Amino acid sequence: MAVEAIFCLDCEYPLGELESNCCPECGLAFDLNDAGTFRRALVAPRMVFSTPVQSEAYLIRQLLESLGIPAIVIDSDSGGFVGIGRSEVQVGNANVEEAKNSIREYEAERSEQQWKGRGAEWECGGCGERVDGTFEICWNCQAERMEQGS
Ligand SMILES: [Zn+2]
Ligand SMILES: [Zn+2]
Repeated sequence: MAVEAIFCLDCEYPLGELESNCCPECGLAFDLNDAGTFRRALVAPRMVFSTPVQSEAYLIRQLLESLGIPAIVIDSDSGGFVGIGRSEVQVGNANVEEAKNSIREYEAERSEQQWKGRGAEWECGGCGERVDGTFEICWNCQAERMEQGS
């Protein structure tokens, strides 16, 4: 199923189903193997990722395209206020599930890396409960984390 449509750079004529390499409307030549010679648009675009961090959106797009999923980044207008704008990654309707799965895997991997950076789980000195490394107090008895060892 097509997830992507292509259009003439000059007159916006849809080129997808053509056999020739010229726009029938204005005669402009295009090359399906050269993405710079036509304009890409997604068919029925759907948002699969949204972030306030623009660079992250482009990272996700790169990830998806490396997996053969055409994706685009839409930057919403911040109205001139820093930190308010959001960037969305969109893919064609037919690729939504695949894209979401890939993003989920990517995020799981990333949070695992952050997890390692924060340290492993610790044992509460008050009640002996194992507590996730992300918490500084025991979720069971509210005792503060004590440095172990030494
Ligand atoms: Zn044209
Ligand atoms: Zn405890």
